Formats: sequence, C-alpha cells, structure tokens
Amino acid sequence: MHLLVDDVQLWDGTGSPAQPKMSIEVRDGRIHWIGSASQWQGNRATVRVVDGRARTLIPGLMDCHVHYSSPGGPEWIARFTDPLPEISMRAIELAETSLRSGVTTAREVGAPNGISIRLARAARAGEIRAPNIRAAGTWIAHQGTYVSFARQFGEVDELRNAIKTELEAGADLIKVALAGWNEGARPQDAPDIPFDKKLLAVAVEEAHKAGFKIACHANDPTSCQIAAHAGVDSLEHGMFLEAGDLEAMAKNKTCLVPTMSVWDAMLYYARAVDWPEARKKRAEDLRQGSRAAVTSAIKAGVRIALGTDAGGGAARHGRIAREAELMVECGMEPRDALIAATSSAASLIGEAERGTIGEGKIADLVLLDANPLESIGALRLIAAVFQDGRRVA
Ligand SMILES: [Zn+2]
Repeated sequence: MHLLVDDVQLWDGTGSPAQPKMSIEVRDGRIHWIGSASQWQGNRATVRVVDGRARTLIPGLMDCHVHYSSPGGPEWIARFTDPLPEISMRAIELAETSLRSGVTTAREVGAPNGISIRLARAARAGEIRAPNIRAAGTWIAHQGTYVSFARQFGEVDELRNAIKTELEAGADLIKVALAGWNEGARPQDAPDIPFDKKLLAVAVEEAHKAGFKIACHANDPTSCQIAAHAGVDSLEHGMFLEAGDLEAMAKNKTCLVPTMSVWDAMLYYARAVDWPEARKKRAEDLRQGSRAAVTSAIKAGVRIALGTDAGGGAARHGRIAREAELMVECGMEPRDALIAATSSAASLIGEAERGTIGEGKIADLVLLDANPLESIGALRLIAAVFQDGRRVA
C-alpha cells in the first residue's frame, strides 16, 4: 500500500484554490507526503505510481443521505418491503455501486430492521466493498404518519425508548421523520404534524445527551418550520423552508441536506413511466420549493452538505455527480458544491480524518479526468477511487 499520485492538479477540500503539478504519497492507508511534483525524493521503482497529468485529485466524496436497502426507481417505497434476503443482498451491491462512483463515506439514514447497521459493520471489517458507512438504523416516526416500516411511537416515553433502542443496536446517529397523518389515521382534533415541537425537543435532547447527532426528515411547510427551529444537526430535504426557518438554521448551525436528486428523478419517471397527475404535480412542487429553498439557504449562510437520497426517493445509487450539478444550477459555485460533498459533509458526519487531503489524513481520494472546479460535471469522469489508500475503482 505504497502509492504516488504523480504530477496532478490537487484540490484539497479546504476551499483553498487548486494547485497544479503536485504529488501525493500514500503509505499504509494515510497521506504521507504532499508537495510539488519536482520535489518528491523517493524511489519510483518501489512505489505504485499513478499518472496524474491532466487530471484533478479531490478528497473522496461523501453522500450524507443514502438508503442502501432500496434501489430507487419509480417504485422505490415498495422495494423497502421486499423479502429480507433480497434487501440484504441488494444493499451490499448498491453500497459497492456507490463506492465506484467516488463515494468513500456515506451516511445511511434509514433502513428497515436496522439492516444498515449490519452493513456498516461489514464495511468497517473489510468484508464487503463499500463506502465507510455511518448508519442511523431504522427511522423513528410518530404512529399514523410516514412509512409502516419505520420504528413508530405514540407517547413521549416510547420516543425515548425508540432512541435508546437504536443506539443500543449500534446506530451511529438518530434519524427522525416529521410528516403529516397518513390517510384515515388522523384522530379528531389532532394537529397537522403529531411529531410536534415538544416531542422533537425530547428527541434532540436524548440524542445529544447520549453523544450522538440527530438528522430530521422534513418535507412539508409545517415540518420544515418545526425542524428548522429545533436544533437538530441536519435537516433533510427541506423543500419548503421559509426565510425565518433558514435564519434559525444558520443560528442553530443546523446543516441543510437538500437531496434535490429526489425531484429530479421524480420528474424523469413522471415522463418515463407515465405517473398519475397527482404524483407529477408533487414532483413539480418539490422542484419549485427546493430551488427556492436552496437559493435562499446559500444567501442566508446556512451550511449545506450534499446528500442524494438515493434509494429513499426515486433517485438511483451511484449518481452523486447529478446532485452536485443541481447545486450549481441553484447558484452554488462548483467549489462550494465540492465543499458540500467533502469537508462540510465530513464535519456533519463527524469524520475529522476524512473530507480533506492533508498529511496524516486517511487516504480517501478521487482522481478525475477533468477539472470539477471549471465544470462540476467532471465528477462523472472518474479515473480512479482510493479508499484507505487502496484502489477500489
Ligand atoms: Zn431519505
């Protein structure tokens, strides 16, 4: 595991400009030396040399919102209830697809039966070819809302227990979902969103008290408003965030994970699979809300981390480049979209040794055949992916 990426343009993920004609030496899974290509002193005969000319080296990408138990596509929700052996095998395949697209770290934010925790362990043990996975276990939602395969609670004690159970099972973070009532489930006089401000405050307190982060799904105006003011670590989707919500997020240092690939894929399937009108309209509403929210979030100084929601929406796995392209379409500079996918993602996930390229850091690297700072679509042109200093694609 002794490697030299030679004579490459280096973008280190910190936000500093890219530097041309650099070399990066990797030893035992970590970055050992960085310097001008002409100054490298080692012996080429004893090192695996990777040609970096006309290429750009960036930190391994991080997808802060994936679900490996579903493949995405037009019927993504039904896929979460496939037979367990099918889901388990598929999760292994999809994690590898993700890794090959340059995702060396992924935050898995919900799987039935906590499959993602087992997947994360297998990845950590080197048993499967997968990103470094931080898993939330199973989603926590109020009964009568969200999906049937989430962990559901009614009373506040059940919520505390649900969080405790996930953490005892080995979850790396907590994922809660705010949503309106499912059809026919709403009791008389119940509020629109039963997972209210008080219950969310309890969830935030329980997760933080135990030393874990909490991610919150919010995808309608009321949920967005509740989540933005609650002090969660990340707000997922947030298609209907208003100016006041974004202000609160900036103040609370709540990170936005916009998952724009969701509506992008939905709009595609609306045409390709001939969806009913209501679903087409939902996709269009999400697109409009999302673009406005992301554009305002950039201006409000809200920290943004990249997440695709591959599997959890119609978006398929292995398409992280598309999410970055959508960020740029919403007004982010290519540099900022790359920061959202590397160092900002690392700080959200809690990966201090990943997300930037520096001496002593873990050697998770992506080599591209073009310059993503000029055109973000260069993320599609992968020449090589290195994880812990090993070439994996
Ligand atoms: Zn999701």
